[in-house]
Parts: sequence; C-alpha cells; structure tokens
Amino acid sequence: MSDSHSTHPIPTAIRSERYRVRFDSRRQAELCAQTAGANRFVWNLFLAYNDWRYRVARKARGYGRWTDFPEAQRPLLVDPGRTWQTMYKRFAMIRSGRYDREFQAFLASPEGAVYADQDLSWLRDLPSGPVRHVLKYLDAAYQRFHRAHAEAKAEGRFLPRRKSDGKPQYFPRRKGRQGRKPDGFTIPDHVRMDGDWLYLPRMGWVRLDRGRNFPYRGCAPKTVRLLKEGTDRHPKWYATVAYAVPTARLKPTAGDGELGVDRNVRQATDSEGVVYEQPDTTNLDANIKRKQRKAAKARERSRQSGQPMSNRGRRICGQLRKLHRKKRRRRENAAHQHSRQMADTAHAVVVEDLNVQAMTQSAKGTVEKPGTNVKAKSGLNREILASGWGRLERHLDYKAGLVVKVDPAYTSQTCAVCGHVGQANRKTQATFKCTACGHTANADRNAAINILDRGRPLIRQARGEGASARRGAFGIKPTPMIREPDMPTSPPGP
Ligand SMILES: [Zn+2]
Repeated sequence: MSDSHSTHPIPTAIRSERYRVRFDSRRQAELCAQTAGANRFVWNLFLAYNDWRYRVARKARGYGRWTDFPEAQRPLLVDPGRTWQTMYKRFAMIRSGRYDREFQAFLASPEGAVYADQDLSWLRDLPSGPVRHVLKYLDAAYQRFHRAHAEAKAEGRFLPRRKSDGKPQYFPRRKGRQGRKPDGFTIPDHVRMDGDWLYLPRMGWVRLDRGRNFPYRGCAPKTVRLLKEGTDRHPKWYATVAYAVPTARLKPTAGDGELGVDRNVRQATDSEGVVYEQPDTTNLDANIKRKQRKAAKARERSRQSGQPMSNRGRRICGQLRKLHRKKRRRRENAAHQHSRQMADTAHAVVVEDLNVQAMTQSAKGTVEKPGTNVKAKSGLNREILASGWGRLERHLDYKAGLVVKVDPAYTSQTCAVCGHVGQANRKTQATFKCTACGHTANADRNAAINILDRGRPLIRQARGEGASARRGAFGIKPTPMIREPDMPTSPPGP
C-alpha cells in the first residue's frame, strides 16, 4: 500500500506493532469471533462458488481442460469472476439477500448444496469491510496458483494433485475451524485510534495493551489485522497495526561501513568475524514432535469412531499450535536482533543471493527426472528454512542503509587473500587453509569477506560513483511491501 494518494509531503515508511486486545464486554469478543468466522465462511463460500462457475463454464464450452485451449486464448479464460472486484459485488448482493439467477443456480448445484437452506442474513449484522476483505486474499491466492500453474506449464509439467481435496498443488484451500493459521480479520482502511484505544467497526472501542516499547505511537494507522490465538475456550486476541511512520522518526542507519554476511544452516558469520546464532529449538522441536504424535492419534480415534474430536484431542491440538507460535516468535525475534545488529554495524550489508524457494523446491525433482538424494536434501532444506534466511533478509531490507545481493558461487572455496579457488582449500567444515598462499582463517569468515568483496562494486555504484546511480536507479531506499501478518506471501508448500 503506497502513500501516493495522500497529499502530505512527509516521506513515510510502513512499520507495524502488535498489541494484545482487551475487550470492554463479552459482546465485543463474541462479535470479533463472529467476524473472524465470517471471514472463513465467505472464503469457503466463494471457493465453492468459483469452483461451480469454472465447472459450468468449462462444460458450456465443451472442453475438458483449460490446457486444451490454444495457447493464445488461455489468458482470456482466467475467470474474471475470480477477481476481488467481481467478488465484492457478488458479496454485496449475497449480504443484502438479493440472489440473482446465477447464484440460485449455484445453490441448486452440488457445490452449493450446503448453502442452499442456510439463512445468510447474519452477515448483515457484521461489518462489511472486514468481512469482504477476505476476498482480496482469495484473489491473491488464485493469482499465486495461476502463476505456479504457468511456471509448471513452462517447464512442461503439471502441478501434482493434493491428496486431501484432489485440487492441484497451490490451489486455494478450504479453511477449516482448526486450521493451520489462526482465525482473524483485517480492517483495511479508515482505522480510528485514540491513544491506547482502537475502534472496531460495529463493535466499538477496545483497549490495546502496549508493552514497554511502542516507538510508533501517534503515527497514522493504516490497516489493522486482528488475530485470535490461544484456544477456543480461552482465546487471546492480538492486533497488528501497520503505521505510516515518517522516515525522520525511524532509527537512522549506520552512516558508513560495509559488511559481508555468510549464512549457514544454523548460524551466520559476518566479515568482522561476529557469529549470529539461530535460537536453539531442540527441546521445543521434541515437544512439538511428541504433541504431533498425540494429535495424530486423537484424529485417528475420531476417524475410526466417526465422532468429532474429543475434548482431549482438541486440547492437544491447541497446545500444538501454541508450541508452533512459540517457535515462530523465537525465530522472528532472532531475525530482528540480528538484522538490527548488522544494520548498526555498517551502512551497506552484502548477502548471498540465495533463492531459498528454488533450493527448497528442487530436491524432489519431477516424475520424469526424479531428484537425487531426495531424503538427505529435503532434510537440509528444512534446516535451511529453519535458519530463517528469508526472514533476516526481509528485516535487513528496511533496517540497513543498503542491501546488496551477490552470486554466492565458490565464495566458500576462494581464498580471501590471494583469490586462489579450490576445493582443497576447505580443510574441514570450520577452517579454511589456502593451498596457494597458506592463509588460514575461519571458513565462514573467509566466505563472508569474499561476499563483501563481490558486493563492493555494487555498493560503489549505489553510492553515486556509477552511471546508474547518477540516473537515480539506486537513489531511493526500497520501502518494504506491507505484508499481512498471517497471510502467506508465497504459495504454501505441499
Ligand atoms: Zn591464498
């Protein structure tokens, strides 16, 4: 969300803070839970509706698959009914109870059968903005799917189908009550705040519990994402408020200095030799494993008996989600601290350009060309993700003065003193000893220095010593894209 439409000239950047929400009354908490539930309901309703439209349209054209169409026609076949604009209109219609013939046909179809006898007038009791906003997320989810589909197609393969619902991988999923993500909703605009108080449409004012630090107090709030964590019986609500913060109020970045960072599975090392350890989650991981086993047993019991999950099973699932949240918070915290330390040390930070996505997806390979050593690689890939490289980069992007990415090839085998490249240089995993000049160093620090060396020309360019800098190509510090805290920023994995 850019500030292009606003008239005030002060440059701002988007920053967010998270607060615990304290309700004034039980009624407010109930309305909040209902609004979050309505988000899930509307998502599922439109998922079914679009499925129906797609099936009917396909049948009417007499074709089997989307891919049967000539290549040139395909872009036109992406259903315009799946854009948020169209879905907003339809939502307004459904909410007001005016069903057109198309919607009635949907209700009469197998896809819409569950909604046929439902009275949807309860949607009118909830605020429209935060409920329909979920359709923007659905639109984005369809777009991610289309991109993944197009990419797979370009590589001459099809997306594999999911076992759970038979849909292709990356296709938006139905949201269950006990989903993998916490329930919530977004107030997309016209956010009203007064001191520690936040206005929720139709629900009234709630108090935000601020911690000791709230550096962006008084800045203009742009959007708010409300999330329900904890258990159904003891929900805890959190509000993540995204502010437009005047850049003058942000912590200034280090005036000069350059730093190279080499990232490994469990730690990162910079060119000064400082080591940034990832938090040790061994105990937490063991607890998660144990709870996962128990949860699987509870699910199996309920499946065999045909009964809904027992209270005990639900409690275990709640505890499992809690452990996952704890792990996520720890990693997030580490990424914040590490990126802050790096940004305070140097103005320009050079990192390897690691396409984490590509690294984690390549291991499995394709059916025709299966990947080699899949098991070991996917183990490593999990670790790569676990070490939170993507997170660190995202935080660096807005904290450091300049972030430069370089090709990491051979940086671990190159001597930082004489430039000799060779596998034999790497005596052990930890130490580097050049076979040409005898230079000995910590292997990670040696790599970090190489990374910094590769980044130096790019840094000079950005500082105004190159042609593109004079044209202003690097003049403006990139502002981070505003992200919804719990919405996926990339297609969910299998
Ligand atoms: Zn050397």
